[in-house]
Amino acid sequence: MDTFRKNKPGIPEVIAGPCSAESREQVLATARALREIGVTTFRAGAWKPRTRPGCFEGYGAEALEWIAEAKRLYGMRTLTETATPEHLAAAVKSGVDGVWIGARTCTNPFAMQALADALAILSRQERERLEVYVKNPVNPDIELWTGAIERLRLAGVKKLRAVHRGFGDYGKHIYRNPPVWRIPIELHRRMPDLPLYCDPSHIAGRADLVAPLCRHALDLNFDGLFIESHCNPEQALSDSAQQVTPAELAAILDTIGTTVAVAGSSVEERLTKLRGKIDRIDDELIEVLARRMETSDEIGSLKREAGMTVLQPGRYSRLVENRVAEASRLGLSESFMRGILEAIHEESVRRQLSVNFDF
Ligand code: PEP
Ligand code: MN
Repeated sequence: MDTFRKNKPGIPEVIAGPCSAESREQVLATARALREIGVTTFRAGAWKPRTRPGCFEGYGAEALEWIAEAKRLYGMRTLTETATPEHLAAAVKSGVDGVWIGARTCTNPFAMQALADALAILSRQERERLEVYVKNPVNPDIELWTGAIERLRLAGVKKLRAVHRGFGDYGKHIYRNPPVWRIPIELHRRMPDLPLYCDPSHIAGRADLVAPLCRHALDLNFDGLFIESHCNPEQALSDSAQQVTPAELAAILDTIGTTVAVAGSSVEERLTKLRGKIDRIDDELIEVLARRMETSDEIGSLKREAGMTVLQPGRYSRLVENRVAEASRLGLSESFMRGILEAIHEESVRRQLSVNFDF
């Protein structure tokens, strides 16, 4: 079978947490135990899409407070599921680092567009900060999956990720949602830069199948794992059979031969992971700078057509002051930012002048 090229070298990331946030105690106990085994990104569903009415559907906004507390107490990044614009607004307000969009929501283009529209009206900073994980649709339709991702990209989401959680099927199978690996492989072929995670828990439907599925995903070079873990799976209010305890998760990660984000992993491994992150950020930086210069070229041509001068001093000094103020809010020093803006401006003027000489 074809294999994925991992987006960046390094160790795959592990995201873990309970299917549902069931109580403050359950959220904090699970988050803490996961943090202790080295997991740094915590997932928990505040709103649960349930197939039948009358099942536990999550504690909603109240659960977001427990998740926010776990983030504060244990310094973890947090994710929750959002299926409507209202969920999204509440989740963002609560301070989560990211949201995932579930399989049932991804299956519905109207719901996806409503979420994309809600993302588009967030502040630019929030929209670009937020990680959005898109699970595959229930049915094995690659177009529906890529279409959902494209809607979010068009809405201006920058940190997009895909999560493979298997596909619904009729009849009895070993898996709850058979993986149909060729679909995520095709997604990766079409969108090679999109980080791809595997959710073995929803594929498996059974805790004992989680480990071999993790191994398979790692062999295929997925970028990360998205695993359900509960401090007391038998008592879980949803997806009880497929959740593993944090201790079982630690053992799984151990047996599949990855020390993924596990506390005590060697300095070398942690360094590799951080270097991978820096590489990814630098790639983004280069891409952004290239886009910035292309836009400058367009402005250059427009000024030329309108008979305007290249240098517009008023605009430049306003731009510098705004950017420096915005950067200092994000903890970047004034002199550092001024230096960067000057270099960008100099290059942009140089290009605009050469555009001007070009006719
Ligand atoms: C979940 O992650 O808890 C969930 C509901 O996932 P899915 O949309 O994959 O069923
Ligand atoms: Mn679940």
